[in-house]
Amino acid sequence: MKFVAILRFAAVLASFVTVVASAGRAATEPNSQVTILYDAFGADAAMKKDWGFSALVEIAGKRILFDTGNDADIFAANVKAKSVDLTNLDFVVLSHRHSDHMAGLNYVLSVNPTVKVYAPKEGFGIYGSSLPSSFYRKDDSLPPQMRYYDGKPPEVLKFGAAWRGANFELIDKTTEIVPGITLIALVSDAPGTKELKELSLAINTVEGVVLVVGCSHPGIERIVEAAVAVNPKIRLIVGGFHLVAAPDDIIAKAVAALKDTFKVENVAPGHCTGEPTFTALKQAFGNRYLYAGLGTSLPLGPSTSAGERRGEGPVLQQDDLTTYRRLARREDPFGVLQARNLRSNPSQL
Ligand SMILES: [Zn+2]
Ligand SMILES: [Zn+2]
Repeated sequence: MKFVAILRFAAVLASFVTVVASAGRAATEPNSQVTILYDAFGADAAMKKDWGFSALVEIAGKRILFDTGNDADIFAANVKAKSVDLTNLDFVVLSHRHSDHMAGLNYVLSVNPTVKVYAPKEGFGIYGSSLPSSFYRKDDSLPPQMRYYDGKPPEVLKFGAAWRGANFELIDKTTEIVPGITLIALVSDAPGTKELKELSLAINTVEGVVLVVGCSHPGIERIVEAAVAVNPKIRLIVGGFHLVAAPDDIIAKAVAALKDTFKVENVAPGHCTGEPTFTALKQAFGNRYLYAGLGTSLPLGPSTSAGERRGEGPVLQQDDLTTYRRLARREDPFGVLQARNLRSNPSQL
């Protein structure tokens, strides 16, 4: 009898522990990893470099595609080169509406048409949107043929997506979409990208937050600040920090904030982080800088030391460096250079 009581107590205790452990935390599993599928630098000869970003995040039993690159054909080729199965995804996250992050969506939908796609909710955006019809002023004195919807509008006006039939779920504000997995929604205030909404992916593991960022247009510091609200321990940041055209003092400020203010444990920068920022981060983080060029798989299991290329800068051999620079210069995808030119030379207005 006593033994049965102990067993019951143990069962109750075990279920309590399970509940506590699963509340807002995602367990990392031994095979957890982030694989870079699209970027303009990397050492994997089987993959094609291009300006843009995409990563496959396998963590907490989930397979998440974060962004889809700049060109559907290159994205498809890179996916095949890494033998990634896109028919078996839990969901897709599109960080923002810039084409270097979403142009591969056509390919994703061609192999997995019903996959859930989280995207930022923007007014009249390409991912679709909606507004209550009360937003516009009415004038009852007009005849019906001069009135919108003959004077009888639907309660909600729906605006179409560029991908008809896709299973979009639009995110307006920071939301925990699955226990332990949060989409951070912020709006850029930078010249050239004002009012651009961007989603970042924060996975709260027992070892801290794994934060995946697309282009960081709202500012990497603001994104990390939002991630710290999920869990003050930031284990890793992967993706574009958007300092590709920033001057040294801005880079130094951002690097110091990540290292000293937010005490970020590891960084794996890519995409629009920028070459001088790679250098500054490498100097600041040492062996906590993880190389994340195209084709890299970053292990995220509970003990992650094996297989990681710690402390390395990007493989900036001459070919690779030339490609990254050419692709970064090809356009001013962020409007930063244009904004700076206008500031220093207002006559261009
Ligand atoms: Zn962008
Ligand atoms: Zn970008």
